[in-house]
Amino acid sequence: MTALQGEIERRGKRVFELVDKHPEPLFSKAGFYQRLMALSMRDERFKAQLFRFVDVLPSLRRSSEIVEHLDEYFCDDGFGPLVGVGVRLARIVPWVTQADEYAARYLDLLEKLARETKGWSDPLGKNSELFPVVNLSVKISALYSQISPADPADAINHLAPKLRPLLRRARELGAFINFDMESYAHKNITLELFKTIFTEEEFKDWPHAGIVIQAYLRDSEADLRDLIEWGRARGTRFAVRLVKGAYWDYETTKSRQNGWDCPVYFQKSESDANFEALTRVLFENESIVTAAFGSHNVRSIAHAQALADELGIDPSRFEFQLLYGMAGPIKRALVEMSYRVREYCPVGELLPGMAYLVRRLLENTSNEGFLRAKFAENVSAEELLRDPRELVKESVAGSGDPGKNGASLDIAPGDVYRNSPLVNFAYKDSQDKMQSALREVRKRFGEKYPLVIGGEKVWTDELTPSVNPSAPDEIVGYGSEAGIPEAERAVKAARAAFGKWSRTPFEERARLLERAADILERRRYELSAVEVFEVGKPWKEADADIREAIDFCTFYAQQMRRLGRPKLTQQVPGEESYHHYWPRGVAFVVAPWNFPIAILCGMASAAVVTGNTVIMKPSEQSIVCGAMLMQVFEEAGVPPGVLNFLSGHGSVIGAHLVDHKDVDLIAFTGSREVGLRIWQSAGVTRPGQRELKHVICEMGGKNAMIVDADADLGEAIAYSIYSAFGYQGQKCSALSRLILLEENYDRVMERLIPAAASLRVGNPEEPGIMVGPVIDEAAYRRILEYIEIGKKEATLAYQAKEIPPQGYFIPPTIFTDVKPNMRIAREEIFGPVLSVLKVRDLDEALEVANGTDYALTGGFFSRSPANIERVKAHLEAGNVYINRSCTGAIVGRHPFGGFKMSGSGTKAGGEDYLLHFLVPRVVTENTSRLGLVPEETPEYRDEFL
Ligand code: NAD
Repeated sequence: MTALQGEIERRGKRVFELVDKHPEPLFSKAGFYQRLMALSMRDERFKAQLFRFVDVLPSLRRSSEIVEHLDEYFCDDGFGPLVGVGVRLARIVPWVTQADEYAARYLDLLEKLARETKGWSDPLGKNSELFPVVNLSVKISALYSQISPADPADAINHLAPKLRPLLRRARELGAFINFDMESYAHKNITLELFKTIFTEEEFKDWPHAGIVIQAYLRDSEADLRDLIEWGRARGTRFAVRLVKGAYWDYETTKSRQNGWDCPVYFQKSESDANFEALTRVLFENESIVTAAFGSHNVRSIAHAQALADELGIDPSRFEFQLLYGMAGPIKRALVEMSYRVREYCPVGELLPGMAYLVRRLLENTSNEGFLRAKFAENVSAEELLRDPRELVKESVAGSGDPGKNGASLDIAPGDVYRNSPLVNFAYKDSQDKMQSALREVRKRFGEKYPLVIGGEKVWTDELTPSVNPSAPDEIVGYGSEAGIPEAERAVKAARAAFGKWSRTPFEERARLLERAADILERRRYELSAVEVFEVGKPWKEADADIREAIDFCTFYAQQMRRLGRPKLTQQVPGEESYHHYWPRGVAFVVAPWNFPIAILCGMASAAVVTGNTVIMKPSEQSIVCGAMLMQVFEEAGVPPGVLNFLSGHGSVIGAHLVDHKDVDLIAFTGSREVGLRIWQSAGVTRPGQRELKHVICEMGGKNAMIVDADADLGEAIAYSIYSAFGYQGQKCSALSRLILLEENYDRVMERLIPAAASLRVGNPEEPGIMVGPVIDEAAYRRILEYIEIGKKEATLAYQAKEIPPQGYFIPPTIFTDVKPNMRIAREEIFGPVLSVLKVRDLDEALEVANGTDYALTGGFFSRSPANIERVKAHLEAGNVYINRSCTGAIVGRHPFGGFKMSGSGTKAGGEDYLLHFLVPRVVTENTSRLGLVPEETPEYRDEFL
């Protein structure tokens, strides 16, 4: 055993002795907390329900609501007695409304704390100048709602002016300000902000500033070393509060959802070991940085003590910080051992504050929580004081891909499809790549793109310009304009290629898609940049579109392998029947501009992989994106004639090809008006036509979200704003009707309007822009007309004032007093316009939500399990989203598409999508000869493909 380990054990045991001397229960608040903790430790399901209940509690306004929720969350599960406790609780807690002015509240708090603590003295009596009595931790995200990880400069520009008065006042009052660290997405910005502001002349020599380092982050050591280097250059002390990190579940879930490398360590012992490594870095640099340790783990605490001793650091030069309401005996032990201890607690309204505390307490009942091990399970001191590095090694040897609590992170059986990861613009490297792609693409402005027919590039006399909607005098590129002769030529080429392609093994066709996916991935930033310029997509949205295109290719390749092999229908002696699919023939793919690469790619790749030959027509507004996609497929090796590229007018070549006798299949995504015309026209059988035309028809929406009385308003508002105004409301899935329960109406509106007002409207070339221009002048005029209609029909509650003077920018607009029969509540506007409807109750909300011609997406915000189930069962929408945005469907995960006047019921990115591109066949053979039958019939037969 090393000397350090010996010392850690000695000190750790001393802490335990002192703890045992005062056998106070772990969770010192008697009664309610204790009962909750005890139950939680016994029952995981109860614990999960309790988390959910604690989450909703702050938003419940009346005792009766609390009782109802207790009932819904706990009664079915046999936890009835708890409800009794809850009912008593419900009667005693007052409701306090949430205020939004956080900056003002921080100032107010600072004043009050300074007043209350006047006259407090430092218990250790030395080095007290390092530890002001008042220590206020500031949540950066509370001060500016539009922090974009892609745009640190903007965040700093907005946050610094809000922070300066607070810092100034703290300095005058002799207080300490700590920058809290929240999720990983905001980490780099918080660090950058800290360094920027404390390098300013005014604060450069102020030592009472601190920041948090989260030891569960893999890059925490690099961040800490960078801070120390910065601190030395600055020449003034600063502080670091070292914690393990409180967002483990959030970070792992988020990174798995987005396909990102996980920023946190998987094993608790890895974080513990890193905490110790960082403790050493802090102490070795004690001459510039003051350390505070925020941990309840006695091993981590004892390690800090022993290491300080070894390095000759006086115990009064660092402090331990422990949460109010928890681990009282440990705090007392540390004080008895003459260490500096600070108890910290959330400040604010009673209920949210209580919910926060219960959450923290619950976290510590998790399987790995140190406190649980010590107090509830009586694990031995030696075991608890083991070197975490040894535990890391053991776990790594024991489990290949360690997940939470050592469980496997293996994906569910059958779920073998993995989406391409989104680009994470929180990284500087991604930001730089995107900036450079924007510069490169700009250099290519004005290039001309040909048609591609039968593998040949075809130029026509007419060139159609495609303009940048943010700056309409910029021409992104020109597309050759196809007329009827080129359309005819394309049909011939596709028809000629069909015979061979339809008989090409599906494996080869699937590989073509996978090669296309690789090329899309390679050209990812470049293609995103083209979208920023050609269709005004903000960075993240553009990247999501390319990601979706990649996913369509890989997902349909996988699905084709599943569908491609003739499959036995039933095991019957003497006869075998194989069910399999043939392609339909020549497919005409007609796409909109709003997902200019993804939707075009999705429909075309589905048609190609199923063995059809394709004429692909992009929208007039996104020709360059379409031409790029054609380049991708050419490079991937699509044979001549299998995929033909025709840019041109929908009303000319589009209508011609829809009616063409040699077109067998139409895959359309676009407006209801055009879709219905195609649906009708394709129903007419023309002379010489071989097939009944099959139409896939995806159209518009008038999507609604309902906000329940108990909804988490923070979430409901953030997601509603994003769903309504993200990409300027130009997603078919965008929210356009927000339905609020009467009871909730004022509270929601109070926060909705400021949230809308905080949106960044501007040229999406800038990284953090959320609302860019609408697609073109026609859309611009149409949306403005709807706004005029809205002003007559309803009340204009909000309209943004500052929008760029050039370009097709429409200010985000909100109407209230909207009634279900009004035009702005029934017609698709396809722009940044939100209608708010007030209803009596959930019955009426559902009636209103379902009362339009459309059924594309819909959403509900609620924390009432019963109401959630009701909405799941009754909301008429192809995609129903609960407690999240109603946009952003992911291939394979959220198969996308609507019904009623939103579509013919196909689900892009779903398991049954490819079936629409195929005709089923069954081949049956009598296999008995003279009464003799083969013993077994194979499940699949590939021979007759
Ligand atoms: P649009 O209907 O104007 O155009 C769509 C495509 O149809 C374009 O390529 C256009 O050239 C072509 N077209 C036009 N007239 C034609 C005709 N007579 N015959 C054949 N083709 C013709 O739609 P848009 O403005 O490009 O896209 C916006 C619309 O698309 C919105 O209504 C939106 O809700 C809808 N949309 C739906 C989905 C979905 O999955 N349901 C997805 C994206 C967009």
